[in-house]
Amino acid sequence: MSGGLVNIRANLEEVSQRIKLAALRAGRSPEEVRLVAITKTVSVAAIREAMACGVRIFGESRVQEALPKTQELQGDNMSWHFVGHLQTNKTKQVVGLFDLIHSVDSLKLAMALEAAMGAWSGKTGSRQKVLVQVNISGEESKSGVSPEEVGVMLKGMAKCKVLSVVGLMTLPPRFDDPGDSRPFFRALQELARSIEKVGIDGVSMRELSMGMSGDYEVAIEEGATLVRIGNAIFERRNSEK
Ligand SMILES: *Cc1c(COP(=O)(O)O)cnc(C)c1O
Repeated sequence: MSGGLVNIRANLEEVSQRIKLAALRAGRSPEEVRLVAITKTVSVAAIREAMACGVRIFGESRVQEALPKTQELQGDNMSWHFVGHLQTNKTKQVVGLFDLIHSVDSLKLAMALEAAMGAWSGKTGSRQKVLVQVNISGEESKSGVSPEEVGVMLKGMAKCKVLSVVGLMTLPPRFDDPGDSRPFFRALQELARSIEKVGIDGVSMRELSMGMSGDYEVAIEEGATLVRIGNAIFERRNSEK
């Protein structure tokens, strides 16, 4: 069945093709880039359709909306990520639900997650993979630690026994021309490489979560390993409106 006027399969085919071409343009293997389908405001039926088309990673940005969806849709063939701003008083609600939290944007939040997940981690032997969200543009409206503070934050998190940092995430300003995002993506990549060079115990920089519907191809050219795409998959395209 098609999703009404929204042709999720066609949208996904186009997105996958563009991901592949962007990777090849940058001399990268397309397998290095994973698609995170962002499902905020998207129905469970539409998510199932995306699964049927082969999507395996889904991302939510609000805890309230994520809870029922992650309850209804669980399985070995799918994975949930959390990508939105997380309040410290909501950390208990996300325990054990997400394979990756992209948006750890303060040491305070990191410590709250560490505390909330202690018992779960002890019982299951699991660790919670996280990315540190960096406010690479310095916009006041954006969450994230400043590039200058990332080192201190990571050293502060080195004591964490539950959280495991596997990379960085950013959300640059929105531009009409996606090329304008390039310097911000490049800056995140350079920041990750400089952290790698210093080397912080227990911290890996293998993942770079950057790029959304409007600018994911540029992000891939600049080293993204996770692209977070919502509208380009779940919204009608102009020609269909
Ligand atoms: C909504 C959202 C996205 C996806 O944005 P689109 O423009 O729909 O692709 C990506 N990342 C975060 C953090 C989001 O909240």
